[in-house]
Amino acid sequence: EIRVRYAPSPTGHLHIGNARTAIFNWLFARHYNGKFIIRIEDTDTARNIADGEKSQLDNLAWLGLDWDESPENPGEYGPYRQSERNEQGLYQPFIDELLAKGLAYKSYKTTETIAAEREAQQAAKQAPHYVYEYEGLTSEEREAKYAEFEAQGLKAVVRFRVPEEKVYAWDDIVKGHIEIGAKEVGGDWVIQKTDGMPTYNFAVVVDDHLMKISHVLRGDDHVSNTPKQIMIFEALGWNVPKFGHMALIINGETGKKLSKRDENLLQFVEQYHELGYQPQAMVNFIGLLGWSPKGEDEIFSLESFKQMFDETRLSKANAKFDQKKLEWINNQWMRRDLDQVMPQLIQELVNANLVSEADAETKKDWLAEVIKVAGVEGISYTREVVALVRQPFFELGDMTDEMVDYLTSDDGRKVFSAWESAYTALPESATAEDYMNTIRSIQNTLEIKGRNLWNPIRIATTHEIQGPNLPEMLVVMDKKTILSTMADIKA
Ligand code: GLU
Repeated sequence: EIRVRYAPSPTGHLHIGNARTAIFNWLFARHYNGKFIIRIEDTDTARNIADGEKSQLDNLAWLGLDWDESPENPGEYGPYRQSERNEQGLYQPFIDELLAKGLAYKSYKTTETIAAEREAQQAAKQAPHYVYEYEGLTSEEREAKYAEFEAQGLKAVVRFRVPEEKVYAWDDIVKGHIEIGAKEVGGDWVIQKTDGMPTYNFAVVVDDHLMKISHVLRGDDHVSNTPKQIMIFEALGWNVPKFGHMALIINGETGKKLSKRDENLLQFVEQYHELGYQPQAMVNFIGLLGWSPKGEDEIFSLESFKQMFDETRLSKANAKFDQKKLEWINNQWMRRDLDQVMPQLIQELVNANLVSEADAETKKDWLAEVIKVAGVEGISYTREVVALVRQPFFELGDMTDEMVDYLTSDDGRKVFSAWESAYTALPESATAEDYMNTIRSIQNTLEIKGRNLWNPIRIATTHEIQGPNLPEMLVVMDKKTILSTMADIKA
């Protein structure tokens, strides 16, 4: 049975890279009718943040993912938080087993000693590596040393004894055959800290084994952990799951690895949610980071990704994070079903205090018209609707000198006065076509056309020189307001 997991550390909010890992594990599970499991890797207690777990899961749910086993919805292999697994003593027997077999040992070396060794290595131009302190000792002699150190009140970490001559190899689902020499891991590494907490590379192996995980699909940054994990699987005599490491995500502009310091790039799912991106668009965009379908199409739903999913199409090449593409995809999703997005657009106007809660309800048809006339088809995400409609539909901008010049020119004066009386005479029920005809007849009578005709009319009505289709705007704009705007101009 295919069982895959997403294993977030609750040290922060849902990053785009993590969301990608979660989405692809979900697709893998759902495409093959397997199980998708959430396991919380919260052993680094100092780095955990209060709402890290909840916020990660809420964001995954917002993206449309569901899961079969999790802390809230445990299956047979619980608990689903590493801290709780540790409290229940799930890791200790395996630490003890490795100690008993001589495959791991207790190390009392102080951090100062280790640092001094590292410095010496650096001076000698050697790669940094841990220096085994019990070289040549029998296990009895080693035990005797432990007792000595304990008597001095020293605390031990447990280190895995790395078989330095071995080479660890696996056929990566994404990257193909990979071989990493044991020497490259930097020597004997810690599997249990002084406080009894297992380290990530150890706990993950015990958990993946006990939870019967068949495939581990994760980010490229974990490649260097994989040999360590294979060491433990082998030392405990367990089957090694299949590994896949997804391509690095790079900043499309700099070409460098996506970094928290890339200030102009939003990297957390939540930030896009807040700006009013559609979850379908986020999934669509993230699903194309390091994976591509056959053909040229670019708009896909989670469901269509699930049907098309094919792990052999995961790409080795770096995935470019291109924010412009995300904006384009989101625009496509908004336009696909504008009526469904409309309540969210109106809510943005409420949040920005352009519209009251009550008006949002009673005037929703009119608001929808305003939003459409203002050009909603061109925006990238819903928050942008505020700037789109603010002027002139809810506030008038200031008159610039250029606008005043248009209105006070000879042509401008004539157009203004003709427009003012024609507009006043039109009924409130006038259509865009009526407005168009009215403006055309002013054009014919005054023999003024183009900018000299349209600009004074638009300025007199909206305090703008450019904007959406004017006759359509006039249909949704309030007549009283426009009349008083023109009265002010005259005065
Ligand atoms: N907790 C690890 C992380 O957040 C999970 C790594 C893995 O999938 O093994 O990166």
